[in-house]
Amino acid sequence: MTARIIDGNALAAEVRDQIARDASALATQGVQPCLAVVLVGDNPASAVYVRNKVSACERAGIRSLRFDYPQDVDPDRVMDKLAELNADPAVHGILVQLPLPPQFDEAAVLEAIDVGKDVDGFHAESVGRLSQNRDTFIPCTPHGVMKMLESIDVQVEGAEAVVIGRSNIVGKPMAMLLTNAGATVTVTHSRTRDLAFHTRRADILVVAIGRPRFVSADMIKPGAIVIDVGMNRVPDGPDAGKLCGDVDYAAAREVAGAITPVPGGVGPMTITMLLQNTLISAQRALAAKRGGA
Ligand code: NAP
Repeated sequence: MTARIIDGNALAAEVRDQIARDASALATQGVQPCLAVVLVGDNPASAVYVRNKVSACERAGIRSLRFDYPQDVDPDRVMDKLAELNADPAVHGILVQLPLPPQFDEAAVLEAIDVGKDVDGFHAESVGRLSQNRDTFIPCTPHGVMKMLESIDVQVEGAEAVVIGRSNIVGKPMAMLLTNAGATVTVTHSRTRDLAFHTRRADILVVAIGRPRFVSADMIKPGAIVIDVGMNRVPDGPDAGKLCGDVDYAAAREVAGAITPVPGGVGPMTITMLLQNTLISAQRALAAKRGGA
């Protein structure tokens, strides 16, 4: 069997076209969607992510504001900026790029963002609402994964879903979304005994570990849907330095029913969902303005 490839670039382009049309419609009504991005320090990966997010905003007609701080900045300065952005009615989304330097209390920073502008969905209240299956901003990466599953008409309800990874930004919200959608979900991690026992019975396998080509073909149930969230550099061999996922893609596509590539899979959908959350926040701001007029 050769797996169907779930093309994240194509799906992202389709969704972004719609976002650009909706953003332009909002602008004609006097509201230009606006995302504020805060970057602290000089982590090269973070700088690339922020650059990509800012340029995706521009292409979609979403205004972006960028605030850069040095690695040793006093956290109070960043907190003051967040308070200012919270109070600014022209700003609809606020994102603090993670990770933050050690002098920061990351949870406190995320909770300093107005929950109505929490387009990353990392605020404790957003997470709580997601766990209760209530309307909220959904973290972008797992949200993008759900859109990818939708795009190939996967029957999530009743499926056995296995998530590898339990991070706050990917694994845990992914498990909540799949649970909310009616899957039977198993969350696995570095302390899981016999990981392959779990993965081999997954109809839907979502992998978010951060280890290049960790999941081998023999860990995958024939016909399974495999979503590879990982973004790593190939450590050695002829492809050394190239981007790769957490799944051994070449081998896995001979076993899986459908699979996401890296690059060109989950990555483009993550940014797309960030744009969508910012747009939704701007639409709410317009509705509130009209309601209050
Ligand atoms: P993270 O916070 O480091 O979490 C990694 C998770 O993998 C942890 O829960 C860890 O378990 C688990 N793990 C590590 N080694 C394992 C093993 N041998 N067996 C089973 N589980 C293991 O990483 P993250 O932020 O979730 O990101 C994961 C990957 O996704 C990274 O490659 C990251 O670059 C990528 N990512 C991609 C996007 C995108 O847009 N495509 C977005 C976000 C992240 P413990 O909890 O027990 O330590």
